[in-house]
Amino acid sequence: MVIVMKPGVSQEKIQTLVAQLEQDHGVTVGITNGVGCSILGLVGDTAHIDMDKLSMNDDVERVMRVQEPYKKANRKFHPEDTVVDVCGVPIGGGRFTVIAGPCSVESEDQITGVAEDVKAAGASLLRGGAFKPRTSPYSFQGMGADGLELLLEAKAATGLPIVSEIMAPRYCGLFEEKVDLVQVGARNMQNFDLLKEVGKLSKPILLKRGLSNTYEEWIMSAEYIMAAGNENVILCERGVRTFETYTRNTLDLSAIPAIRKMSHLPIVVDPSHAAGMYWMVEPLAMAAVAVGADGLMVEVHNDPPRAKCDGAQSLTPEKFRHLMDKLNPLVELMGKKLV
Ligand code: PEP
Ligand code: MN
Repeated sequence: MVIVMKPGVSQEKIQTLVAQLEQDHGVTVGITNGVGCSILGLVGDTAHIDMDKLSMNDDVERVMRVQEPYKKANRKFHPEDTVVDVCGVPIGGGRFTVIAGPCSVESEDQITGVAEDVKAAGASLLRGGAFKPRTSPYSFQGMGADGLELLLEAKAATGLPIVSEIMAPRYCGLFEEKVDLVQVGARNMQNFDLLKEVGKLSKPILLKRGLSNTYEEWIMSAEYIMAAGNENVILCERGVRTFETYTRNTLDLSAIPAIRKMSHLPIVVDPSHAAGMYWMVEPLAMAAVAVGADGLMVEVHNDPPRAKCDGAQSLTPEKFRHLMDKLNPLVELMGKKLV
């Protein structure tokens, strides 16, 4: 961290501030006296220092961070890619992993049928929402705990580990017991209480990017989970809000190389929620492979027009198979291996 002092501040005042910083934060402070103003360079763990408070000091002109506020998720301190193991299925580190399934679990036949279809097409994890974050309170809210039971039946029938969204800290016990990869949805990316609680789980976490959050905010949310003890975090880019209304969201493909540089955590792409339209899922999925994503999360429904949630963006099992067949050579071209 660097502090630029205002011109003309006395050496005595600077020494007082330096002593205070060293005592309160355990950092070492180097002073450079330039023409007209002094610059303080803070060395050590500055993550806990409140920049806004420092800026309130009348003698301070400007405060700048030279290091990112995230440590555990930072690639600088962990150069090699993290590979997260989901019940034996790896995500990250030169592999390409596909998560597929319906937006919501609706019935035993539906979830087991889709699970069999996506497995046959090459997916290695089954998704299905049981607790649904819906914009309207009058929309289908999901089957709740019964939905998790149906996911477990589909898992027993196919062997596919299951992915489902958690909406509140009170469900942590249930998810710890039943779910293999616990999803924190876009709307809860900055629900810090939830992040702290899922940070105590032994299960890996899929952290979706918030509707309008920056890369740094997203990584800081991963940092919350990691700081609470759970370092198995996978990031998921699912599109962000922009001025464009044609698509449901705008898929931010720059996020993949950017996150790859900033963090060692795996990153997957959800083209379904980004597009909002089934016919756009395949080209966006191909683009995700091309920019180096570690995998995909795709919504697949046996009967999209009758889906209780997100039918318009859901692929039929046939379209999903077509996507997987098309994807495979590109995955290989990228030097990756489909898991
Ligand atoms: C979902 O995956 O079903 C979902 C609700 O996604 P998001 O949180 O990205 O909107
Ligand atoms: Mn959905």
